[in-house]
Amino acid sequence: MKCSIQGCPGEYENRLIIHTVKRGKDILVFENVPAEVCDVCSDMLLAPETIRRLEELMQQRETPKKYAPLYDYV
Ligand SMILES: [Zn+2]
Repeated sequence: MKCSIQGCPGEYENRLIIHTVKRGKDILVFENVPAEVCDVCSDMLLAPETIRRLEELMQQRETPKKYAPLYDYV
């Protein structure tokens, strides 16, 4: 599929990405999320069912599989 960003000649390809979601003061990280990513500008699309699955995971509040270090740039 062609990239939806105006003027970008790229094509979306299926990739597994790391997706982060900010929830209040929490930052949740999801690994191995299937997404379509443009090979030129890295624009990213998530399918509606992928978003639904992420919402489910957030509501379940399971114990995380891993912890990621978080750094403040400032
Ligand atoms: Zn693009």
